[in-house]
Amino acid sequence: MVDGFRDEDAECPKCHAKITEWQTKDLERLGERWDRGDFVQYRKLKSIHENERKRKYGDSPFPLFQTSKEFLSDAPLLFNGKIPVHTSCKKCHAWLEGYAKILDGRFASIVEAEADVKPKQRVLIKHQITAQTLRIRLREETITVARIV
Ligand SMILES: [Zn+2]
Repeated sequence: MVDGFRDEDAECPKCHAKITEWQTKDLERLGERWDRGDFVQYRKLKSIHENERKRKYGDSPFPLFQTSKEFLSDAPLLFNGKIPVHTSCKKCHAWLEGYAKILDGRFASIVEAEADVKPKQRVLIKHQITAQTLRIRLREETITVARIV
């Protein structure tokens, strides 16, 4: 299995066809898919009750599990960085390599898409905004606490 990122604005660098679906083998390969703005973490699996499975899937004994709304962790898989992704263009058939850019733990967009290049390596960004955002959040919390007191 692979994981995927969806970006409605991404396009083929060769023919400029829209390419929404990008895959990565760089994470845990659990079949998760993230849209722009999504928190980049896997969701917990929960077992499906027999009645619910019958209602949704008829007599099939599978699936045994389904994803829940709960995340595996409060922390994202990475805070700031670029995860290698790939796909092929359905229009011009070019093999494309690119990055899923992650900012503050959320999928921002597909960037640096290129045709006919080697797979890219994961990049971690030491992002100044993270520290700033954290400081602002801390300040806001301090103000809130001050008001309550
Ligand atoms: Zn193309």
